[in-house]
Amino acid sequence: MTRNRSQTRALYERAKQSIPYGVNSNFRYWGDNTFVITRGEGSHIWDGDGNRYIDYRMGFGPVILGHGYLPVAERVAEAIRNGTIFAWMTPLEIQLAEQIIRMTGVDMVRLTNTGTEATMHSLRFARAYTGRERFIKFEGQYHGMHDYVLFSTASSLAGGLGSRRSPINMQISSGIPEGIRHYVINLPFNDLERLEETVEARWHELAAIIVEPVMGNSAGILPRPGWLEKIRELCDRYGIVLIFDEVKTGFRVARGGAQAYFGVRADVVTYAKAMANGFPIAAICGKRDVLMVIEPGHVAHGGTYTGNVVGTAAATATLEILETQPILETIFQRGRQLMDGIGEILTRAGIPHFVTGLPPMFSFILGMDEEPTDFRDYCEGDDSLHERLVLALIERGVMPDADGLEPWFLSYSHSEQDVAETLTAFEDAVNVTKRNA
Ligand code: PMP
Repeated sequence: MTRNRSQTRALYERAKQSIPYGVNSNFRYWGDNTFVITRGEGSHIWDGDGNRYIDYRMGFGPVILGHGYLPVAERVAEAIRNGTIFAWMTPLEIQLAEQIIRMTGVDMVRLTNTGTEATMHSLRFARAYTGRERFIKFEGQYHGMHDYVLFSTASSLAGGLGSRRSPINMQISSGIPEGIRHYVINLPFNDLERLEETVEARWHELAAIIVEPVMGNSAGILPRPGWLEKIRELCDRYGIVLIFDEVKTGFRVARGGAQAYFGVRADVVTYAKAMANGFPIAAICGKRDVLMVIEPGHVAHGGTYTGNVVGTAAATATLEILETQPILETIFQRGRQLMDGIGEILTRAGIPHFVTGLPPMFSFILGMDEEPTDFRDYCEGDDSLHERLVLALIERGVMPDADGLEPWFLSYSHSEQDVAETLTAFEDAVNVTKRNA
């Protein structure tokens, strides 16, 4: 079974002539298998040859309602007729901040455009607030493209991380000034002892602990009971700013995000993806006294496009729908069906596995059947089998990410029919992959 993708390949060849490696984000580069998508509707996308796929990448997570979701698209189309930026405030920005506060319980909101900008600024605010310079992040967590956080992300090789007792900061890109690594301390996720020991020894240098409450860039691995509470407690004890990076979990795992799901509150929270169903906007939110350090002339935050009408119109429409309709309930139900179904198929096939994450963003690890608790555990799984299985699935019209680190993202548009079709294709792909092993 091989789908004809000649037009798609031709488009990609053309892209390579004018765009380095033919992509506008290195995460979209799959070598000769790089896709060019011409259309999306609901849970489906179509490639350059008109092949249809049930999409589980959903733009890497933002598309929570569905591709081209009309109530959002129409609100944007209507709003932009009256202009898109004015270098002044607009009523949409005020309305959006009020919605976010109502849904998440944060005190205040500053808008920005991308997750990268949100985490970059939040680290600056934490430094300005505490007068300290270093921060802790966790191995396998990704916080965007700025220099400070490109160490020991999910793009690292497990072999380069050193021992758990003394983890090595693994720089994942050239082009980062040598001195930057001095400011970041990477620790394994869920390791209470290592965290406590590090904070107790170095608290006076620590401005922030930044954490994805769920490992959204490492297969959705969950926090152990007590882990987030422990981080909260240490931050309180030592005056460290706790930053929840909710770029992936925000408005997806609960209306109030991971703070509500796990019942732990951060000092600063970053939101982006699901807040606007795929339109570019992000938010830096949190406690009043921390956010009030952004005093004009003293602590820098800004941007020509922050709070623009495209993003704010999309976000106000999306959040209104998420707040008032049983969207997340439906997503949890369908995601659970998929997680259970995938687990059963793998069990029937005799493939050791562990299904990770939460129904709106889950993954599975092959070749091991114990619950993984950090990025190092994930790396013990059989990635190559996972990739072969997913490529077989894509041939059958179902498109999760080939990289098991990137969760399957559900949207409100994924139907019962999509779930059934996905599980049929999954069983078929498992059998074929096993036969060819
Ligand atoms: N934080 C997290 C947790 C993310 O998953 C991402 C993107 N995948 C980012 C930050 C960066 O967001 P953006 O791509 O919008 O810059």
